[in-house]
Parts: sequence; C-alpha cells; structure tokens
Amino acid sequence: MIRNTSFFINGQWQQPHSSKTIDVVNPANGQVFATVAAANEKDIDSAIASAKYAFPKWSNSTAPERSDLIHAVADAMQTRIEQFTDVISATMGCPKHLAKDIQVQGSIDAFRKFAELTDVAKSQQNENGIIHAFSPVGVCVLINPWNYPLSQLVGKLGPALAAGCTVVAKPAEQTPLQDFLLAEIFIQIDAPAGIFNVISGIGNEIGPYLCSHPDVSMVSFTGSTTAGIEVAKAAAPSVKRVCQELGGKSPYIIANDADLEPAVRYGVEDVMLNTGQTCNALTRMLVHESQYNEAVNVAKQIAEENKVGAPDSPDVTMGPLSSVKQQERVRSHIKKGISEGATLVTGGVDLPKKLTTGAYVLPTIFADVHSDMVIAQEEIFGPVLCIMSYQTIEQAIEIANDTKYGLSCAVYAKDAESAIEIGRQIRAGQCYVQGSYFNTDAPFGGFKQSGNGREWGIEGLKEYLEVQAFITQ
Ligand code: NAD
Repeated sequence: MIRNTSFFINGQWQQPHSSKTIDVVNPANGQVFATVAAANEKDIDSAIASAKYAFPKWSNSTAPERSDLIHAVADAMQTRIEQFTDVISATMGCPKHLAKDIQVQGSIDAFRKFAELTDVAKSQQNENGIIHAFSPVGVCVLINPWNYPLSQLVGKLGPALAAGCTVVAKPAEQTPLQDFLLAEIFIQIDAPAGIFNVISGIGNEIGPYLCSHPDVSMVSFTGSTTAGIEVAKAAAPSVKRVCQELGGKSPYIIANDADLEPAVRYGVEDVMLNTGQTCNALTRMLVHESQYNEAVNVAKQIAEENKVGAPDSPDVTMGPLSSVKQQERVRSHIKKGISEGATLVTGGVDLPKKLTTGAYVLPTIFADVHSDMVIAQEEIFGPVLCIMSYQTIEQAIEIANDTKYGLSCAVYAKDAESAIEIGRQIRAGQCYVQGSYFNTDAPFGGFKQSGNGREWGIEGLKEYLEVQAFITQ
C-alpha cells in the first residue's frame, strides 16, 4: 500500500498541518490502495504562498526556459510511464494497456506540445498602432476529476507553465497519485521551487476556501456542473477568472446517407471507452427511422464484444467504474431507464458474471429512448448508450439540441461536408466528423451548462494570459 501523507509545496515535500487523511480505494477489488493527506486551510495558505512567491521570477522567465522545463518534465514522465500507468489503473480502473496508451502516453505527448507555445505568451501584436501584449494571469488553482486524471492535469498545467503562471493543483480524492508522481519529477529535474504545488483534499470541504483565496487569480475546474457552480460562486467575490469544463450529454447524428455499420461501431466504441466515464462521450445516438432496427442490432453486437474484467488483464476492454459510488449511480440510472419504458437491448443492472466484488457494470444499450426521459437528459457517466430515432434531419438537430449541455457532438453523413453542415446547427463546443476523435490540438470546452473557457491548443493557452493594450497613436 502507498502512503503519501505529505504535500508538494515550494519544491519539496512538506508535512501537512492537517492530520486528516483520505483512503484511495482500488475499484477493481475494493481494497485500500493508498492513503494521502487531506489539506486544511493552513495547508492551502502554504501552497498558495509558495506559488505567489514563485510567480514574479517564473512569469519573467524566457520562452526557451519555459519550453526547456516542459520538455524536461515530459522526458522524465516518459521514463516513468509504467509507474503512471499502474497508479492510474489501480485508482480509477482503466485497463492497463488502455491507460498506458490513452491516459499516459497521450498525456505526455500533449504536455510536450505546450513547449512549442511558450513564445506566444511573450509575443506582441501591433495592429494600427495598438499593441496587444500578453502577461500570465498569476497564481492558478487547478482542480481535476478522476476519469482522465493525468490528461486533465497536463491540459491545465501545460498552458499555465507555458504562459508563465504558477500553480496549485488539487487532484480528485479518488485519484491523487499521478499528481504526486509528477511532483517527484519536478524535484528530480530541479525545477524552480514553487511553480508547481500539489495538495490533496476533499473538494467540497476545502473548495470554498481554495477558490475564494485572495492570492489566486484564476481557477481552472473540471468536474460536475454542480461543483463547477460552487467554484464559480466562491470565486466571484474576488472577481477571479474561472474556467469551467463540466458535464455533457453529447448527441451523435447518423444521417441516413451514412455508411451505417462503421458509423454505429464508432458510436458504440466511443461510449464504452473508459467504462463510459468520458465527459464528451456520445451517449445519445440518433438514427433515421428507416435504419433504426438495423442500427440497434449492430450496436448490440458491438457492445457485447467488450470483455469486462480486471484492469491488469491484457484482453480486457472494460474495467470497473471508478468507485462503488459511481457503480450505484450508473445502476440506478439503468433502473430508471427500464422504469421509464426504454427497451433494454443489452446489459442492465445485473453484475457481470464472476465480477461481484469490484465496481463493475455491463455495457448497456437502451433503444426506444425519448428526449423527455431522464436517461436522455442526465449525464450517467457509465457505459450506457441511448439510441433514439428521428424522421427528418431537422428533427434530429432539434433532439440533439434538447439538452442543458453543449460539450460535444458528432455527425456521420455521406461525407465530411454534409456532416459539417449538420454539425454547425448543433450547439456544442466540438463536433467529431465522420468518426474522428478527440485531438489535443483542437480547442475543447462547452456551450451552455458544459462550461466556459477552452482547454488545449492555442485557445487553451490564452485562458492563462491577460492581454494588455498599448495605444500608441
Ligand atoms: P466532481 O465535481 O464531484 O469532482 C471534481 C473535482 O472537483 C474533484 O477534485 C473534487 O474534489 C472537486 N470538488 C468537488 N466539489 C468541489 C467544490 N465545491 N469546490 C471545489 N472543488 C470541488 O466531479 P466528479 O464526479 O469527480 O467527476 C465527474 C464529472 O466531471 C462529470 O460530470 C463529467 O462530465 C465531468 N468532467 C468534465 C470534463 C470536461 O472537460 N468537460 C472532463 C472530465 C469530467
């Protein structure tokens, strides 16, 4: 068992003021995998003071210095790829082979890209005598969930450091360990003290203090819409910048001129990835009535190809959910779908055979889902796909937009041009065209209650910059 009851503050491990701890449970077997400290207000003060002290020097570092640091961190991460994989898989349940490729290698590659953007932060643009100059925002608090814990961290830390900001990171209670591994790397490469600080803690207890702290200039939050609202409320009196990456209930329109089998395969695989715990998962599949029955049959077959089991088995495609609490939430939504009258095509509330101790669920598909059902409106955050039918493309667009969320959407049509034409009418931050995938070069973020602000790429970097205008004529 791992015992990590220190915080990473001012470039070193510091004993907490708090004596409270958090048990981190392995969702595959229900056993405690690690114990970490739970920060209190004094710990928060120390971490923020460290970031505040480091800010003047780091914000004045050169673009090549910041770029070199990001590359050095990425190089060290690469040598510890197995360690990152092991702790992520053991704390949130993703099968190791998928965790390694998608969650760890993908994060290292994505983090490295911010090294190429450091000069943007120092650049100036002169248009008609008005100079736009950029400055780092200041001390940033980064709060993350547990579903892609390393990717979500580097999607915030990369642009923050590239911009010249200093950081206090607070990982989710379920998945704190990758943040501490990254802290070890900052020690190993002798990074400037205080630019990156890590405290673990219980979000709804320390969130208000952390997010309202007068020395914090920005909070970047990824998590549920409910917690995101609390973060914004706490930050409002001190007029901080708040970037919210929240929930989703993303629609996927398959036009009646699309190649049905690959289109359905893409949608089912997308929803089942990471045991359905992906904020931009395409959980509402919209199929033309003339192809509906065929699509449901194909979807059933593809969902049943999944092998559910222990995350360390190389042939497993779906591990447990991240916790028993999450398992209960998903199973209660499945019960709700059945009681609302949707047709259970595969899966359901039963536990997968021989998997009664971990937080497992079966890949589940509902057909005959209508937009007014709870399962069509609420984010389930599990491997549950709702298939809905439409008569006209206008109706499909109306159903797609019938949600409080607007994180992502997808369209599969006869070609990219027609898919984009449909996608333009859906209110969502990203649109996956003809079976494309999440790409860390593309700005990512929500319309409506899926959040505000953008992560990744140049737009993600800009969130961490203030613009200063010099009017010269
Ligand atoms: P959550 O909101 O409960 O927790 C997320 C993080 O917020 C954790 O670190 C938690 O400790 C912290 N937190 C909780 N209450 C807080 C408060 N009042 N103040 C400050 N911090 C607080 O979410 P979760 O259940 O862990 O994660 C799942 C949710 O995250 C889903 O709704 C999912 O869609 C969303 N999510 C969104 C994105 C995105 O980029 N849009 C990505 C991943 C997950």
